[in-house]
Amino acid sequence: MRLILLGAPGAGKGTQAARIASRYGIAHISTGDMLRAEIRSETPLGLMAKSIIDRGELVSDDVIIGMVKNRIVMPDCARGFLFDGFPRTIEQAEALEDICNIDYAIDIEVPFDRLIERISSRRMCPKCGSAYHVSAHPEGLCPCGGKLYQRDDDNEETVKNRLEVYGEKTAPLIEFYRTRGRLLTVNGDASVDTVEAEIARKLEG
Ligand code: ADP
Ligand code: ZN
Repeated sequence: MRLILLGAPGAGKGTQAARIASRYGIAHISTGDMLRAEIRSETPLGLMAKSIIDRGELVSDDVIIGMVKNRIVMPDCARGFLFDGFPRTIEQAEALEDICNIDYAIDIEVPFDRLIERISSRRMCPKCGSAYHVSAHPEGLCPCGGKLYQRDDDNEETVKNRLEVYGEKTAPLIEFYRTRGRLLTVNGDASVDTVEAEIARKLEG
């Protein structure tokens, strides 16, 4: 099973990706998480990516495509994988077509005016990687014990640019996969469980 999760920043890709990957026993490949790991380890790639990400711009296609090529040959990808945050440009989608076939691209739809509120209220767990709305754990602690924090690029200024970049560069992928007969659409303006169930129903239907 080879899947792609599409959707704007804040649509809930990361949360759904973790659930869908564990449901089907496939690898969850988040290019955003991979870049943040590079930043934490202060690698040359991480140092280069940090300022781009903090501005809400996209890291270059070459870098991302190289990262993904190395990732999908790892043993945990043997049963399949789910991309979260990749591809993000038509160029990345075309490069992916040269590497492998994709079964479905799942677009998680959320009304535009809900996205800014969702992202500005998002808190992350450094230990388990979960994302929460700030109101879910106002005391700032994850059930796993991790101390919740806000991502550097989740501030209002950067979020506005990320949404603009999404509209210009990533939203065209919806048509790209629709014309190839690979697109599934789900309503992301619902509870996490409801969205997960709709994705599973469409995949298995
Ligand atoms: P979100 O889905 O919430 O926008 P991600 O964690 O997927 O956030 O990505 C964070 C940032 O990492 C992006 O704004 C971008 O700068 C960079 N990035 C992640 N994936 C890609 C990609 N496929 N191509 C280019 N840049 C990427
Ligand atoms: Zn946690």
